[in-house]
Amino acid sequence: MKLYDVLIIGMGAAGMQLSLRLAAQGYKIGILCKGELMESATYWAQGGIAVPFAVDDSPAQHINDTLVAGDGLCNPKVVKFIVDNSVPAVKELLNMDFPVTRNKTDGQPDLGREGGHSTRRIVHASDHTGKALSTTLINAIKKSKNITIHSNNLAIDLIVKRGKCVGCYALDIKKNRTITYAGKCNVLATGGASWVYQYSTSPQSATGDGIAMAARAGCRLANMEFTQFHPTQLYHPQVKSFLISEALRGEGAKLVLKNGSRFMDKFDKRAELAPRDVVARGIDFIMKKRGLDFVYLDISHKPSAFIKKRFPNTYKQCRDLGMDLTRQPIPVIPAAHYTCGGVVTDTAGVTDIKGLYALGETAHNGLHGANRLASNSLLECLVMAHSAAEHIHQNIANIKQPDSLPPWDESRVVNSDEDVVISHNWDELRRFMWNYVGIVRTNKRLERALRRVQLLKEEVREYYSNYRVSRDLLELRNLLTCAELIIRSARMRKESRGLHYNTDYLNKSTKPRNNIITY
Ligand SMILES: Cc1cc2nc3c(=O)[nH]c(=O)nc-3n(C[C@H](O)[C@H](O)[C@H](O)COP(=O)(O)OP(=O)(O)OC[C@H]3O[C@@H](n4cnc5c(N)ncnc54)[C@H](O)[C@@H]3O)c2cc1C
Repeated sequence: MKLYDVLIIGMGAAGMQLSLRLAAQGYKIGILCKGELMESATYWAQGGIAVPFAVDDSPAQHINDTLVAGDGLCNPKVVKFIVDNSVPAVKELLNMDFPVTRNKTDGQPDLGREGGHSTRRIVHASDHTGKALSTTLINAIKKSKNITIHSNNLAIDLIVKRGKCVGCYALDIKKNRTITYAGKCNVLATGGASWVYQYSTSPQSATGDGIAMAARAGCRLANMEFTQFHPTQLYHPQVKSFLISEALRGEGAKLVLKNGSRFMDKFDKRAELAPRDVVARGIDFIMKKRGLDFVYLDISHKPSAFIKKRFPNTYKQCRDLGMDLTRQPIPVIPAAHYTCGGVVTDTAGVTDIKGLYALGETAHNGLHGANRLASNSLLECLVMAHSAAEHIHQNIANIKQPDSLPPWDESRVVNSDEDVVISHNWDELRRFMWNYVGIVRTNKRLERALRRVQLLKEEVREYYSNYRVSRDLLELRNLLTCAELIIRSARMRKESRGLHYNTDYLNKSTKPRNNIITY
């Protein structure tokens, strides 16, 4: 058994920033990630971090843009809390050698523009903000004596004793053995569940493990039906998931058909700069109507030098695939991008279970409502890491750690002999979630999807009871839990709002409410 003051599951922006805060206060931290250190959504973030730095901006404007995007379901107090704490949280990052892109003229951070923001507000490190952020935080963690990293350790389930979370079981993937971790305080920072869908912009870490573990442990889950579909993922057979940042549209890129004609202006007067859900639905509509596999994004009318300087990563990725961003439109499709719902918490990440916190994309604290404003999520990770650290610091002294915990019981399982069951069910799940529970939903499709989830769940339950666990099996089990939560939550919502669009209920209810479920 490995014992820590604080056990953090997840090495994205939320988990890493929390670990640094607590380590600086002298606590012993164990931090787990299920793959290599860079396998996180954080690493892949491109656009940046929203913060009202500009002279023509204000917290009030940032709050208002967030509330408008959230379509009636943001918690205004939480939005105010996060935005009010944004400037110090981002300044702290800038003091950590984060390689922010700066204006040549005044040396201040360059502020990008993204859809849904009324002004330039996005602090960024060129177009690879996530890579720069991950590198900055990992370097700081490696220097800390108080933090122990356990990579390739996949948390299986939380250990809850007499209503209190005391640790978790994890699979050491490289050594193929299970380990018991104990923490006085335990934190889920495992990211979102976008991999429940066939097309996703996230890396494979986004299988909703933390959401599923919290659900199984008895936490409440909120608004799981709100998955944000990013309008523009590169469509290319050699690339599983490569996001084409919103910042391209912010800088003037147009969505066009093969003949070069625009279409977004027919759906919304803000055209390409409308919020993500509107743009994703516009693309989905035109693709389905015309039987297209993809549409195009075109920024080639901008000066070549500007494109190469502002979007070096995207330019290179396209060039490596034989496409020149400065001269031609590139093929794009929408893809699942962000899980707005999650484990219910307050503004310190406190969940329903004592000793358990949830942060970042795993959590639902009320910031995003029915739709996330672009670049608010990294901001949320940074701010929430601070408030959770403060709460843990105030409370940890009163927590006694158990002397021992029951070990993982493998006495009645054997090695699997038919892994094809797992890979087949992965594909089946992700495909029907895409087709039945995707950008546009109907009651009938949701019912069909629920029946299929129940069948798959039964198969996987049997498999889980009889065979030794593996990464694929555990992730499939978690994806199924998340899929069921998404469908159940979607069926409860008898309206179309924000990211949830059901053609059987096209109107918006006059009384917006959160969908809260227990598993
Ligand atoms: C392509 C892309 C671009 C984006 N661009 C932006 C942007 O510009 N601005 C913005 O604000 N947001 C952006 N987002 C969203 C943002 O990146 C994420 O919401 C945010 O990084 C989530 O951080 P996190 O710490 O909650 O989780 P993540 O960064 O996803 O980290 C999760 C961690 O948990 C670990 N983990 C998961 N399950 C387990 C388990 N069972 N056991 C152990 N470890 C586990 C993973 O290994 C990983 O280390 C983008 C997302 C994507 C996919």
